[in-house]
Amino acid sequence: MTNRRNFLKTTALATAGVAFQAFKGKSEETEININSGKVNKPIVLSTWNFGLQANEAAWEVLKNKGRALDAVEAGVKIPEGDPNERSVGYGGRPDRDGRVTLDACIMDEFSNIGSVACLEHIKHPISVARMVMEKTPHVMLVGDGALQFALSQGFQKENLLLEASEKEWKEWLKTSEYLPKANIENHDTIGMIALDAQGNLSGACTTSGMAFKMHGRVGDSPIIGAGLYVDNEIGAATATGHGEEVIRITGCHLVVELMRQGKSPQKACEEAVMRIVKLTQNRGKNLKNIQVGFIALNKKGEYGSYCVQGGFNYAVHDATGNKLIDANYFLK
Ligand code: ASP
Repeated sequence: MTNRRNFLKTTALATAGVAFQAFKGKSEETEININSGKVNKPIVLSTWNFGLQANEAAWEVLKNKGRALDAVEAGVKIPEGDPNERSVGYGGRPDRDGRVTLDACIMDEFSNIGSVACLEHIKHPISVARMVMEKTPHVMLVGDGALQFALSQGFQKENLLLEASEKEWKEWLKTSEYLPKANIENHDTIGMIALDAQGNLSGACTTSGMAFKMHGRVGDSPIIGAGLYVDNEIGAATATGHGEEVIRITGCHLVVELMRQGKSPQKACEEAVMRIVKLTQNRGKNLKNIQVGFIALNKKGEYGSYCVQGGFNYAVHDATGNKLIDANYFLK
């Protein structure tokens, strides 16, 4: 029976649990805080159509009470390894010099972070990001340094530029016009956020970035706080779309902070998109050329999403199944 005394005891334990968790970085104490019976867990969300398949891989981990960190890594590796997904990992579109350069980051429930940017020749940048997190004193490695580290960890050097992408790049070279259009499928990202059965959050984000970008260009996806953010006390968010715009507002950190202020995941995503809308207008730029989408998940397993214009969807897998949802948007 839950009486007031028990409730107070649980609340006190919950508070102590959170403090202890923050201090020692132990996960089991968080159970006390969130075990209210109202938490929708486990649950995983990810961006775009390829999120459906990615969620299936993540769910295999989550349904067996695995850690959200392992789930998100396993999930995003699906489109990373798929040569037909030409905006992520193996088979991704190259930069304007014909080089496939990949960006990825990962964040766990203890705020451990790892990231790689402008990484070439490695099929699974998310796993390299995880190794940066777990095996180095740093949080981000870029370019040749990231490749050198990956090879030292046993990753294989591979050719990531496949025929279809090379053909498209050669066609692009005829005009060499860099115009990343909203919802034209030459760039995308898989961002994935999950809450596991223990009530812990993690996230992963990986992309080949904007097709035909300048060599060395890095978007939001490998930048903790921009393309991904996780706060195990509050929630998690990830982004897709024009990375320059996401970085401008430190998008995913903003979404999580808005949830901390009491906003639902849906309202937090809406407010972050409105910040982009306002800054774009203030700078005299045309909003029609911009697409950014956020997805967010809070500690209770509630989720939401919002984007600048129509065309963005995301996949959600919980105990009721796996489904695609069209995100609501600003420009009607
Ligand atoms: N956010 C990615 C980037 O700017 C691309 C995308 O998600 O469409 O590199």
